[in-house]
Amino acid sequence: MSSLFIRNATIVTMDDDRNTVEGSIYINDGLIIRIIEGTTTDDELVRLALPPATNIIDASGLIIMPGMVNTHGHVAMTLFRGFADDLPLQEWLEKKIWPAESHLTAEDIYWGTMLGITEMIRSGTTTFTDMYFYMEQVAKAVETTGIRAVLAHGIVGITGRLEKDLHDTGELIENWHKGAGGRITVTLGPHAPYTCPPEFLKEIITLAEKVNLPIQIHMSESRGEVENCLKEHGVTPVELVGQVGLFKGHRVICAHCVHLHAHDIAILAAGEAGAAHNPVSNLKLGSGIAPLGKILQAGIKVGIGTDGAASNNNLDMFEEMRLAALLPKGLEEDPSLLPASKVLRLATTGGAETLFLPKLGMIKEGYRADIIGITKNLPHLCPPHNIEAHLVYSAAGSDVELNIVDGKILMEDGKLVTIDEEKVIFEAGRRALQLVKYN
Ligand SMILES: [Zn+2]
Repeated sequence: MSSLFIRNATIVTMDDDRNTVEGSIYINDGLIIRIIEGTTTDDELVRLALPPATNIIDASGLIIMPGMVNTHGHVAMTLFRGFADDLPLQEWLEKKIWPAESHLTAEDIYWGTMLGITEMIRSGTTTFTDMYFYMEQVAKAVETTGIRAVLAHGIVGITGRLEKDLHDTGELIENWHKGAGGRITVTLGPHAPYTCPPEFLKEIITLAEKVNLPIQIHMSESRGEVENCLKEHGVTPVELVGQVGLFKGHRVICAHCVHLHAHDIAILAAGEAGAAHNPVSNLKLGSGIAPLGKILQAGIKVGIGTDGAASNNNLDMFEEMRLAALLPKGLEEDPSLLPASKVLRLATTGGAETLFLPKLGMIKEGYRADIIGITKNLPHLCPPHNIEAHLVYSAAGSDVELNIVDGKILMEDGKLVTIDEEKVIFEAGRRALQLVKYN
């Protein structure tokens, strides 16, 4: 058991009962045990009858907040960053990404994931979501680096691989669910309604019931996808999967939700569904802008995600927050929509709720100690009129210098503790250049 004392910080708690406080945080065995408001002295822990801390961080130069929860992505796609840009979704997938992905090896996935995790720890993410292949490699990277993750083996039903995909999913659950010290949650990952026909989806729902785990799926990402579904089945993708029973008593993480009809929103709101909002990827692939205001108004849980680095092209949740806050204002010509404090909550506690992860995303007693620190004394964060606004509108992932997951330090003073960064960049870069030679 190790304990950590983060002293004298400006703490943005995301806890509505407390909000932003000057104070210290005492962490033990991965949990936030105590938040102490005001300046603490050297003998504070003795006074509070808390055991001495194994590690003490002087955080007087930091803004401390819960780590970012990235609710959607394909992390090893860092290998395809900058490889295929400025193309529409289907052309991007079919002509560039899928052919290149067909050559990926397990080792490529490991190093691509290590590259993504390195970038995420640096930019303040403490939990990520992944749907991809060779997921045991991703799990190993999670175990090595100390980050938290929600993983799914991507299942595509049009390739005749159902049995193999279900088998791989079963193995991932058996070997890694609650693995890496409890930091890994396994989910089921049918790719999308257009790649997983209704009959196929039924089998996945049956498995979800058996193993009692959430399902993550791409949902209504592009206009063409919805139009094709209407042509082929006479209903929208949300209605189609709803008819199969996806939203009946199952926890579902719906990525994108860009082109939702009013009835779709009602279906999602009635079920136990959360939406992963990926504004940068949706803009870059020309997919559109998700109706975030309407989704939130309906009471649907919302988290923010980056999607893969091939369609973003970075994994910086700060940039994602800024876009999530700005787009509805411009779209609806209303600057009061999605205020900074709301967007900050979507990126942290909202993300944890969307991923069905309890006691995560707030700095609060009894919550997991997933915490980041942002350098306070920077020109673009001065003057300190409104810290929450600065975090959304002015800060960048590169301002993060401290990253703690489950009470363990993964980055301190901007230096990575669990990762050999030089090796990761070299190995991932070398492999990525080899991979695209086939195209
Ligand atoms: Zn995706």
